[in-house]
Amino acid sequence: MTSVTELETADVFDMWEILNTESDNEENLQESENKSWCVKWFLSMWAQLSLKSQDKGKAKWVVTVTVLIVILFLGLVLISVRETEKRKEVEGYPAWEEIVNQVKRIEENHSELVSVQTIGRSLEGKPIQRVSVSAKPESKGPLVWIVCGLHAREWASPLFCLHILNGLVQDLPSESELQKVTFQVVPVANPDSYVFGMSGDLENRLKRKNMADSGCSDPLHNGVDLNRNFPVGFNLSLRSLRDCTPVRGTRDLFCGCSNTYGGRQPFSEPETRVLRDALTNEPPWLLLDVHTSFGAWMTPPVSRPSRHSEHKDAWNIKFVTDFLEHNFDVSYKSGETSSVYWEMVGGTMVDWVYEELGVVRTYILELISGCKEGDDADDVCWFQFPAEIAREEVLPPAWAGLKLLVKEALRQDFKHL
Ligand SMILES: [Zn+2]
Repeated sequence: MTSVTELETADVFDMWEILNTESDNEENLQESENKSWCVKWFLSMWAQLSLKSQDKGKAKWVVTVTVLIVILFLGLVLISVRETEKRKEVEGYPAWEEIVNQVKRIEENHSELVSVQTIGRSLEGKPIQRVSVSAKPESKGPLVWIVCGLHAREWASPLFCLHILNGLVQDLPSESELQKVTFQVVPVANPDSYVFGMSGDLENRLKRKNMADSGCSDPLHNGVDLNRNFPVGFNLSLRSLRDCTPVRGTRDLFCGCSNTYGGRQPFSEPETRVLRDALTNEPPWLLLDVHTSFGAWMTPPVSRPSRHSEHKDAWNIKFVTDFLEHNFDVSYKSGETSSVYWEMVGGTMVDWVYEELGVVRTYILELISGCKEGDDADDVCWFQFPAEIAREEVLPPAWAGLKLLVKEALRQDFKHL
């Protein structure tokens, strides 16, 4: 004699069969198999619970479990939709290979103005390029160095260097003052982590340091902050100390997971050695280090307050931020970095360029954020706001501000040119 339970169990197996047949007919077999597996699992669970739920109390339990599963499922769908939306927001930024190709095309199309050179290699062996743009390659004039992408996650920075290169080849023929200098542009100073940030999980996009092994098990926080790996004020960063953890059983601190970990010693990283050698061989007259998204034009020192009357003329750049406010309605802070940031930070590139190479005209540009959803500095949007906004609203004013700075500095420093 067949029991009720056996009959109901047979019905469940029939349902499995029907689902199997249906899924076989689907075009996208793999996807439908996955989906039907979930449905099958859910139905079998429900059926099995139903078989056992002969009384009302158990039936209530079945309903509760069902509702919880549905809520969980809807939650997962919502998270997935939000992730997709976030990914769409950051579309439009060029991959590292695209930047290299764009630079190559600019050189090919304007070979009379542009020459590209590999000045060294990253930890993983990627070329670090320097693009030289000059109206008179035979007599270079003062060198304007622009370094982008030292911090990997600040994607608008390499995009700004590309914007500068395109702007230069367009503007140089008609702007006689810009013809007096040679621009030396490093579009991506930290290529390994730029590539890492554009691959894998959304979280990877927040990678700031290079790809060195600093002993941190979390790949996002493993590495050395290249802008803390220069010798002036090395290891001074208070922010680093805050992120360090005590090593059990010792008096030591472990700082390898800190986002501002400066490495074992100055110039321990291939990327900073490349910059050291290139800048030493061809010293800048003016250097701009480009970051996002603090919204400021700043001067050294970063690791100490300035001394009284220390290069006040060269470091008075309020005319740039006033110009941007009046002409573009864009609001930037300006001033000495240690006071704009409210704290002193050691190991930065600009302090080394100023203190050891003796380049007075050393500046930091923190581009404004184009993120429209609040200003959480840990959010992807803070660094990687929509590329369209970067191209249309952030980069053109910044380029106009840089040209003004170069022209005014030329007038002050080279009256004879
Ligand atoms: Zn930065």
